[in-house]
Amino acid sequence: MSVLAVLVAAVASSLVAPGPFRYLPMLPAVILTALLTRRFVIGLTIGLCVVFTLLTTAYASSAEAVLNAVLFTVGAWILAEFCLTLRRQKKRADRMTRRIAAQDALLKTVLATVPVVTLEIDGTVHRMNSTAAALFALEEKAATGRPFNEMSPAFDLTALISGADEAVYGPQAPTDDYWSGVRADGSTFPMSVQCGRAPGPEGSDLIVLCLTDLTRWHKADEQARELHAQLNKVWRLNSLGEMAATLAHELNQPLSAAATYLHAGQVDLEKAGALGDNARTLIEQSKAQLLRAGKIIRRMRELLSMESRSMGQERASRMIEDLAPIFTMIGSSQDVPVLLDLETVDDAVRAERIQFQQAMVNLVRNAVEAVSGRPDPEVMVVGRIVSPTHYVVSVEDNGPGLTPEQAERMFQPMTSTKSGGMGLGLSVTRTIVESHGGRLLVAKSASGGAAFSFHLIREAVGENP
Ligand code: ADP
Repeated sequence: MSVLAVLVAAVASSLVAPGPFRYLPMLPAVILTALLTRRFVIGLTIGLCVVFTLLTTAYASSAEAVLNAVLFTVGAWILAEFCLTLRRQKKRADRMTRRIAAQDALLKTVLATVPVVTLEIDGTVHRMNSTAAALFALEEKAATGRPFNEMSPAFDLTALISGADEAVYGPQAPTDDYWSGVRADGSTFPMSVQCGRAPGPEGSDLIVLCLTDLTRWHKADEQARELHAQLNKVWRLNSLGEMAATLAHELNQPLSAAATYLHAGQVDLEKAGALGDNARTLIEQSKAQLLRAGKIIRRMRELLSMESRSMGQERASRMIEDLAPIFTMIGSSQDVPVLLDLETVDDAVRAERIQFQQAMVNLVRNAVEAVSGRPDPEVMVVGRIVSPTHYVVSVEDNGPGLTPEQAERMFQPMTSTKSGGMGLGLSVTRTIVESHGGRLLVAKSASGGAAFSFHLIREAVGENP
């Protein structure tokens, strides 16, 4: 105990400045410097204070002067460090305040735009923000305290609550990855739900649901599916028409030859006189049947090519843009991006919308198949106004392109280099292009692949539908 008392007395006496201590009025200068500047300037200030005091003060001994100076220097430096720490803390606090303000603004924006519902653990609504209330066509307050199942009957919180460790959950929706929401008027809409747990104001946890209204996506998806079904139907009719045309062309020669042989036989039978009458009649009937067979095939082709003909004014870029979901579907199955680069102003053309779209799908499908498996595959659909009367559409790829022999044979029906390919796509496409007054051309694309192009006839400028 006595040792401690001696120690305290020694420290206290060392802190009491011997002789006159003239440094006190200089401390504010050190504090100010420490609050405003860097360590180098603080050191300089302390140094100047010491020099000034030594020059202006009469000390009893130099030991006294040195002791005072050292005491001041140490004390002033500790004070300066304290001020520097305060400055650092203030800077950090300012930064944090700014970050919190930014996060707060972000949160407010999110809450104003994202439908958010907080639920009690028993599944009743704790709070619903105005965006979520609008989604369910409810008053914000009216939802509080009601079971969330009234707004989404199939929604099941039990699985969510049992897996309580995770911060964010994506509960499995019952059908097609979406939940059904019920509006106040009983109508339903598809939505996706992201969930998380957050501490509530009363100590117990709340379940936070972030909802996304999927109506727009579903509508777009439905439209794409409808267009796809329509294109499939047109494809079947077009390919039947193309096959009928090929059959008519291929059968024409043997049918004509058979008719000629029968005719020659009839002439020979003339020599048999009355004996050959019966045979001649039979041959005549055979010839009539052969002619009928030819007519049937031709008629079939005419019928098929008459299907869905309705040439009208269309916007070239819009017809192609509407196909974007289908292009994406075709491309994504082979990991190939299909990009669009279309001129969209004054692009009114004369076209049969669905037939034109069928031709585009054929060309894009071929291009995607040609680039599939190659490094950096890419298919580009380009639309350009090239003259007052023509809008040119081209489908370009960076695949192997076509050899001159392939280019020569590619329009022949049933010519395909693909296993299982019917070889009808290009001949159907050519027929469609020609019915639009164009010509299907193939050239080398800028990237060394194939570029299939054709033109559409432009309608009067400024008359966009
Ligand atoms: P299919 O696709 O059933 O083979 P198509 O008439 O559409 O029938 O195509 C005929 C052939 O033309 C294809 O088998 C292919 O060899 C060739 N072809 C078509 N488009 C391309 C292309 N973009 N790049 C390379 N070859 C192509």
